Amino acid sequence: MTNKDLANLIFPNITKTIEDYEKIYPERNLPEGAMVTRFAPSPTGFVHMGSLLASFISSKAAKDTNGVFYLRIEDTDQKREVENGIEGIVADLKNFEINIDEGALSRTESIGNYGPYIQSERKEIYHAFIKHLLEIGMAYPCFCTEEHLDEIREMQEATKSRIGYYGRYAVCRNLKIDEAYNRIKNGEKFIIRLKSPGDFEKKIVVNDLVKGKIEFPENDLDIVIMKSDGLPTYHFAHLVDDHLMRTTHITRGDEWVSSLPIHIQLFQVFGFNPPKYAHLSPIMKQEGDTKRKLSKRKDPEAAMSYYTELGIPIKAVHLYLMTIANTNFEQWYDANKDKSIDDFKFDFKKISASGSLFDLEKLINISRNYISYLSAEEVYNNVLTWSKTYDLELYELLSKYKEYTINVFSIERYQKKPRKDYESWSSIKKNIWYMYDELFQNVDYDKGNITDKNEINNILSTYINSYYQESDDKDTWFSRIKELSTALGYCANMKEYKENPNNYKGSVADVSTVIRIALTSSTMTPDLYEIMKLLGADRVKSRILKFINA
Ligand code: GLU
Repeated sequence: MTNKDLANLIFPNITKTIEDYEKIYPERNLPEGAMVTRFAPSPTGFVHMGSLLASFISSKAAKDTNGVFYLRIEDTDQKREVENGIEGIVADLKNFEINIDEGALSRTESIGNYGPYIQSERKEIYHAFIKHLLEIGMAYPCFCTEEHLDEIREMQEATKSRIGYYGRYAVCRNLKIDEAYNRIKNGEKFIIRLKSPGDFEKKIVVNDLVKGKIEFPENDLDIVIMKSDGLPTYHFAHLVDDHLMRTTHITRGDEWVSSLPIHIQLFQVFGFNPPKYAHLSPIMKQEGDTKRKLSKRKDPEAAMSYYTELGIPIKAVHLYLMTIANTNFEQWYDANKDKSIDDFKFDFKKISASGSLFDLEKLINISRNYISYLSAEEVYNNVLTWSKTYDLELYELLSKYKEYTINVFSIERYQKKPRKDYESWSSIKKNIWYMYDELFQNVDYDKGNITDKNEINNILSTYINSYYQESDDKDTWFSRIKELSTALGYCANMKEYKENPNNYKGSVADVSTVIRIALTSSTMTPDLYEIMKLLGADRVKSRILKFINA
């Protein structure tokens, strides 16, 4: 009996060799320096902030270098799979405008020439690679039962030895080929293990793109490469897929760092070049005095749906992710406000090794800033789309008053420092509601400095009867409010008022606040002149009358 006989017994139908697969999935024909990156989630639920960051980085690195970014679904642990897991991931990526060049689109569809991109559909390929290892004597069937493995572990714990299947504990490693052959022929259950060539006393050094040089003992565990269901383990599938899909750079969470000795060893056993690895520290969250990992379970802001519902523009989330991803991005963006992320060159070396603190307030500020530089039409289109799902009342108003609303969004927008009132699409209504009569009903009015009702009514009626002219330009409009103030005993000049407050009933600011409150119910709004222009004479008059009579 030879290794080959054993390999043929286990995989009688596997006829393709690993050389055949090298030809089927040849080196990619890409420009020098192009990176091939991937996002390789298990279909276990929504994409959360941590994996979004990893996929965002991977897609950006590929885009910057004219490479390829692909989506691979890692479903070898089928117990953990959730319903519509794949579609959910594809939809999350799409919603977040992370485009894939290749990969799974659903259970049945994909794009690209390096597929299948779903691991459970690659069984034959994995088997060819496992068969190869059996043939060269680098893998073996293991018949140890769960009970036996438990006993080994208990013994190792009791004697404070290293846990695992290695050295003298790896009993099946030394089975004679004939014996293994016969036990399989007799229908005994087995799994397949790597015959690890590693020596725990020796060291390997891996150069991680984020963490720098890391030293590990070599792996000497005979890890499982094929489970009893015939599927490979994650480690083995990773090797085969990242090799055949010609991945050059792997960005993933640092919970995988400790697997590096195994992964590197697997590449070495086959004589393949390993890809470069970038292990990201987890995104942290401040909680009181302590920091903890941002949690998929505990923190709503870890889910992408949180941003969609709130109506935070996706580009703003991208900007925030980039500030986490590259420490020099924020400064670059400050100096290049007119540019987009596409103009920024991502650099693995500029990833912070210590990980980032998730700062929702900062994200919201980025969003506020981002929205302030959009055109009024862009704001309109975005709010319209958002409100269609989340606020039908607003949606109807926006649809009915398109031009008008765009004009509302134009107030103090096209200037050097545009207003930053809107932090998200959902925050817009509370800023502009008073511009719509449909919403301006039974309102609660703020209080200004002038509180005497007779005085307020006097200011408003004098204004509307003697000083308001719809056709006034801004300067004339304001000089008339000043004239009104003077006529009623208020100081028209703020500087003078501050010097001699006792000489006056109040200032021009108090007078305009009265008008502002009557028209908008609020003491704080964007430019009152612009608001009045948009409301138009009829509504200005009727709102003032309504307020007088209130
Ligand atoms: N399927 C693994 C995960 O979901 C991927 C790890 C990797 O990127 O290599 O974490």
